[in-house]
Amino acid sequence: MIKAGAGRLYVVATPIGNLGDLSARGRETLQACALIAAEDTRHTGTLLQAFGVKTPMVSLHDHNEAQRAPELIERMHAGVSIALVSDAGTPAISDPGYELVRAAAAAGIEVVAVPGACAAIAALSIAALPTDRFCFEGFLPARGSARRARLTALASEPRTLVFYESPHRVIETLEDCAAAFGAARAATVARELTKLHETTYRGALGELATRAAGDANFPRGEIVLVVGGAPATAGATEAGGDGHGGELDRVLTVLLAEVPLKQAAGLAARLVSGVRDNEAYKRALQLKDGR
Ligand code: SAM
Repeated sequence: MIKAGAGRLYVVATPIGNLGDLSARGRETLQACALIAAEDTRHTGTLLQAFGVKTPMVSLHDHNEAQRAPELIERMHAGVSIALVSDAGTPAISDPGYELVRAAAAAGIEVVAVPGACAAIAALSIAALPTDRFCFEGFLPARGSARRARLTALASEPRTLVFYESPHRVIETLEDCAAAFGAARAATVARELTKLHETTYRGALGELATRAAGDANFPRGEIVLVVGGAPATAGATEAGGDGHGGELDRVLTVLLAEVPLKQAAGLAARLVSGVRDNEAYKRALQLKDGR
């Protein structure tokens, strides 16, 4: 139930590079709210200055969001409307904001989207890969073994995959993707979207990995990696056929990286419908042996 007389929480998207991408409604909202909760007040200060917005700010980042949310909720209950922004793009998308949005919704505050730039959606829209179904995977784990386990678990995912990646890791990630998904899988790297050095690289994962290693500009700036989904039969062929459309292999691969084989098999049998303990155990042995 929405609280009458309460302020609202406006979740305002800001540009991911080109200032022209702040919407007219975004600017008006930043101007009209009594307070802006910003990931980094110095960073947002530059944006506000460029648009002549003088609204006071309070910081809201990963390390203080849980503590700060109750105080902001109290202010909204008292009638103050607050705009939530992150450094760039849409708040709460691989950025702070989720905790405040969750707490505000739970407290009966009206939460309003003021949409705009989002790097994942911008990259997907120009990737020239299927857009009808996709999954956003955010950042991959930085550690090599954890990253490879995550990618192996995604090998038979039929939907287009969207990843955020740091420029320091993009070469390794492309190599790991080529190993997990096959070097021939189509992908797109969108770099510096909306900025001066915006570049889009399209090709097979193997080619992109080679190109990234040989082009000094490739691993520079901000990057989104979009990878085509697995072909329809990949669950049965690439993964060696787990008999469950690849789901058993996906679950086992993640569990085997974390717990002993017997425990992984027992948990997988409970997680994947129609799988018995001994079937999961046999398949876990095969995966462990690389079959
Ligand atoms: N909330 C943001 C959004 O809506 O896009 C994402 C924030 S996340 C901390 C930052 C990551 O987004 C970067 O590491 C990069 O992967 C991606 N990104 C942000 N701006 C970008 C741009 N201009 N071009 C390409 N990727 C970008």
